[in-house]
Amino acid sequence: MIKKAKRIENLPPYLFARIDQLKEEAINRGIDVISLGIGDPDQPTPMPIVQKLCEEALNPANHRYPSYEGLLEYRQAVANWYKYRFNVDLDPKKEVLSLIGSKEGLVHMIWGLVDRGDIVLCPDPGYPVYRISTLLAEGEPYSIPLKIENKFLPKWEDIPTEIAKKAKVMFLNYPSNPTGAVIDKKGLEEAVKFAKEYDIIILYDNAYSEITFDGFVAPSILEIDGAKDIAIEFNSLSKTFNMTGWRIGYAVGNADLISVLSTVKTNVDSGVFQAIQYAAIEALNNLRDFSKESVKIYQRRRDMVLDAFKGMGVEILPPKGTFYVWVPVPEGFTSTDFAAFLLEEIGVLVVPGIGYGDYGEGYIRISTTISEDRLIEALKRVKEFFGRDDWKSKKPSLLLK
Ligand SMILES: *Cc1c(COP(=O)(O)O)cnc(C)c1O
Repeated sequence: MIKKAKRIENLPPYLFARIDQLKEEAINRGIDVISLGIGDPDQPTPMPIVQKLCEEALNPANHRYPSYEGLLEYRQAVANWYKYRFNVDLDPKKEVLSLIGSKEGLVHMIWGLVDRGDIVLCPDPGYPVYRISTLLAEGEPYSIPLKIENKFLPKWEDIPTEIAKKAKVMFLNYPSNPTGAVIDKKGLEEAVKFAKEYDIIILYDNAYSEITFDGFVAPSILEIDGAKDIAIEFNSLSKTFNMTGWRIGYAVGNADLISVLSTVKTNVDSGVFQAIQYAAIEALNNLRDFSKESVKIYQRRRDMVLDAFKGMGVEILPPKGTFYVWVPVPEGFTSTDFAAFLLEEIGVLVVPGIGYGDYGEGYIRISTTISEDRLIEALKRVKEFFGRDDWKSKKPSLLLK
């Protein structure tokens, strides 16, 4: 028997692995499974970006170890993008760092900040990486409850004073995975004020900054006066340019936090393949309007999901961003039972809300990163199934325990 480290042993069971297993089993039983599970853009990366990669891949100068912090040209392109998009000034040498995707940066930032027992405030429901990275560093995650009655925004008075005083770091993520909620500048001002009052570092995850609906424009936390004293923002090209497979992102903001993150990174990984950095420069400089097209697609799909559930009498708070819809489960089901139920009965895979934290119970997450044909088919199956009057008497047999 291999003896694992306690930090691995003590991790909560990985729900998504169990879901994958159920999906496999369903497929093996011959079920045509439609996955509304993972959030991963189905559209291709724009061709000019791919072309740039191909050109740069041919240059042997790009075949060697890249610098840890990223090409200055890449960091400058990020700074220019922040000036153009958010009117935020960044020093590319001290306030920008290249990342192998923002996930990598979020996790490494925790390694640089958290000692055993340190409290980290994590949005709940939220991206599982926040809690897990905290646990891996032997810190203590504490939930920032995000409730529907507050439009899935934090109520800072919900955090007990003694916890706030002890907390060292907080994660914040809007547009939010999984709820699709957004925050405005006033909300961010309140977050910065709370964090400054209790001396808490903010790790702001803005991965969906360009995926917003109904005319809403997502702010950067760095737009808030004084935010740069305490905050670092993570973003990537993954969702903005359909580049999840490429692994390129960046951290921007407080120079000391950038320096800590850089110290961790230089010791555990290397920079981003330079050809990919050049392709990313192309995207940031010359494809600034690309996401407007993606937004039209995601908004149309969101509306299809909202319409379908409305027709079934299910009330959903319409998401203002991301490509997720956060749907309440019927009474009498846990989120996990309900997800298993949908998979078993109609071959539709969704993610149970409990996978995003205790406050995610009572919801499932639907991702719309799937072709419209398949999305329509999935919604048709859901509608047909709930149109039958016997469905409530059925019991899911694939209970996940
Ligand atoms: C997709 C996603 C990321 C970005 O991941 P990359 O590592 O940049 O591909 C970060 N945060 C959240 C909440 C996400 O959903």
